[in-house]
Amino acid sequence: MNRILIAEDEQRIASFVEKGLRANGLTPTVVTDGASALGHALSGDFDLLVLDIGLPGMDGFTVLRRLRQSRGAIPVIILTARDSLTDTVAGLEGGADDYMPKPFRFDELLARIRLRLRSDRAPEVTVLQQGDLSLDLRTRRASVEGRTVDLSAREFALAEVFLRNPGQVLSREQLLSHVWGYDFDPESNVVDVYVRYLRKKLGQERIQTVRGMGYRLATD
Ligand code: CA
Repeated sequence: MNRILIAEDEQRIASFVEKGLRANGLTPTVVTDGASALGHALSGDFDLLVLDIGLPGMDGFTVLRRLRQSRGAIPVIILTARDSLTDTVAGLEGGADDYMPKPFRFDELLARIRLRLRSDRAPEVTVLQQGDLSLDLRTRRASVEGRTVDLSAREFALAEVFLRNPGQVLSREQLLSHVWGYDFDPESNVVDVYVRYLRKKLGQERIQTVRGMGYRLATD
């Protein structure tokens, strides 16, 4: 759920941003003055605020300052005039996370919004580890007891499912749907074949057979 609060009094811009966000699967709400922007931003109902600086009533700088004073931690992207370096610097010093100089293309704003929504969350795991077995999800490398092991793409994908669910019994159907897709024949023995490949490469005891149920990654 990505609920975006747009504080912009210029109807043309507000509706352009609102439509674009909706078309990209986000949930936008528009407010047109500073006081509503502050109230909504503090409600806890939004994941990100796109804040125009020139707002009636209370300007964007004041909204931002009060928001941060009230410990509102929502990420804020300010909309500034293209050539106003002063606005940009003041905005960032006032607690904005990013800025978007006007006029802008929609995809530029969307890229910044997506970046903020991502970085707001916990950093993504890039190495999965279980005992002396590890998978590096960026380099697609596996290593056992410190030495690198070559895995095919399928073997890597299967190992990844096991490492994301250590100690859990995973049925053949679960493994099939994760690694081979839902339309694969459930009668196929491809899972058993690949588990054998993995055992050969990672160690026989690494993946245990749970009779009648499936397989499990050994946790000790
Ligand atoms: Ca304005």
